Amino acid sequence: MKPVALFCPNCGHKVVGYQDEDGAVRLICDRCKSVMFSKFHPKKCEVAIKVQVRHGEN
Ligand SMILES: [Zn+2]
Repeated sequence: MKPVALFCPNCGHKVVGYQDEDGAVRLICDRCKSVMFSKFHPKKCEVAIKVQVRHGEN
């Protein structure tokens, strides 16, 4: 598995996850618990990133 690092769009914390065979990565920010899902599309040569931001759950 290939490690992938992203900066959380919500709080800026560095989050590391692992890419599976399909090119999909699921990362959870351990500071704000936002969920980031990234998927690489080889045909389009682009990465789609979805972010689910969590507010006020402390
Ligand atoms: Zn965060």
